[in-house]
Amino acid sequence: ADAPENVEKHPKSGQEGFITPRSYDFNAWYADIIANAELADYGPVRGTMVIRPYGYAIWEAIQDYLNAKIKETGHKNVYFPQFIPYSFIEKEASHVEGFSPELAVVTIGGGKELEEKLVVRPTSETIVNYKFTQWIRSYRDLPIMINQWANVTRWEMRTKPFIRTLEFLWQEGHTAHATLEEAEEEALKMMEVYKNFAYEQAAIPVIPGRKSRRETFAGALRTYTIEAMMGDRKALQAGTSHNLGQNFSRAFGTQFTDENGQRQYVWQTSWAISTRFVGAIIMTHGDDAGLMLPPKIAPIQVVIVPIWKKDDEKTGVLNAAYLVEKVLKTAGIKVELDASEQRTPGWKFNFWEMKGVPLRIEIGPRDVSSGTLVISRRDIPGKLGKVFGISMDSSILEAYVKDKLDEIQSSLLEKATSFRNSNIVDVSSYDELKEAISLGKWARGPWSASDAEELRVKEETGATIRRSCNICKIILTVVVGPFASMMI
Ligand code: AMP
Repeated sequence: ADAPENVEKHPKSGQEGFITPRSYDFNAWYADIIANAELADYGPVRGTMVIRPYGYAIWEAIQDYLNAKIKETGHKNVYFPQFIPYSFIEKEASHVEGFSPELAVVTIGGGKELEEKLVVRPTSETIVNYKFTQWIRSYRDLPIMINQWANVTRWEMRTKPFIRTLEFLWQEGHTAHATLEEAEEEALKMMEVYKNFAYEQAAIPVIPGRKSRRETFAGALRTYTIEAMMGDRKALQAGTSHNLGQNFSRAFGTQFTDENGQRQYVWQTSWAISTRFVGAIIMTHGDDAGLMLPPKIAPIQVVIVPIWKKDDEKTGVLNAAYLVEKVLKTAGIKVELDASEQRTPGWKFNFWEMKGVPLRIEIGPRDVSSGTLVISRRDIPGKLGKVFGISMDSSILEAYVKDKLDEIQSSLLEKATSFRNSNIVDVSSYDELKEAISLGKWARGPWSASDAEELRVKEETGATIRRSCNICKIILTVVVGPFASMMI
């Protein structure tokens, strides 16, 4: 579905509960989902956002998985202050050059002009290095492997909820090693963690790759990235891992004494995934009915909607619904029983579908008497995704629901993968590349890695180059696509 740019607002735009069709205007569709599914809201300062409970719960699911993996791979959580002396940012030349246009700077504190202005952290390499310099004495202190969950601030000019905000939440890993090889191994290992997270949890078939020299993180030797294709076929940088080399250690004098008594600069990495990932999930799986969440990320995996007409049916139906809720909860499934009487069942069906809940269970008076229920899949619309007569027997029900959640999880990944594959064209000439891009697709082919060619591609097609690499052994291929985060 190709969304035309700058289309006029849909006539129904702004009506309560209305979601602009994806094919009509992808950006309006995205904004409507965020508002209707109650994920986030705009803050009073341009480019800031309030993350609402349902949106935050998705972020928490991302955090839960990554936090465990970050610890499993040997890192410990820490917290650094968000105010950084301005002089720190200036120490690494390309870092300050890259970040200064985006800095928020504090000049007054407690009503007085500060002696040294402070930066609200855009990222923490500098303040981390300040401490590493004090903590690291010899090779025995290495490696240091830490991570923090924090907010960061970058004064972005063009913003979009989750995708690109002035203040965002992320985890940032920072490590220091004795050798370049170790740092490289670490940067790639975290890429692997990110890639697995994207595939297995978010059902997003990202392409791991390396950024071109021009797009490498300000201060890094190499930047690795996972790129995802959104529903409008734009690319989204969904996570990055940097091999920082010795750039920061040289700027900050972060040295260790090696086994031969020689002073050496440490080799470092940093890596991050942000609340942008929530946007990636919305734009990968959502459809015209609203959000569609992979079960492993969904704050609610199953919603139960009890249906009754007459008062004498109510007790029986509700009792059965509470029982089913208990069975599923005990089985570790995230379940919500919508027993409110203010809304009709039809309204609830639409609402929970729009919120992207993977499975819906309906229980009516006839189901109660037959000891069965009805289950509908969010990812298969209408009658096709609806199954009647599932037994309420706890072990049968539990097994059925778990099975269906697994099926939905893999089906979403399959769908996203075939969409992605059908929109990547293998090209062997510049004309073929241009043609692919003009059709809104990504192109894959060899590239000399020259800055000049990259600029030409960018200027003539609007596309950006990524060196793609399957676990970064092959660096000959290119993935090209206009970037979702660049569009408003
Ligand atoms: P970087 O430090 O620039 O490599 O970015 C680290 C991670 O944060 C990447 O996953 C980016 O996609 C993400 N990110 C960068 N800028 C923003 C922003 N303004 N809002 C949300 N996420 C961002």
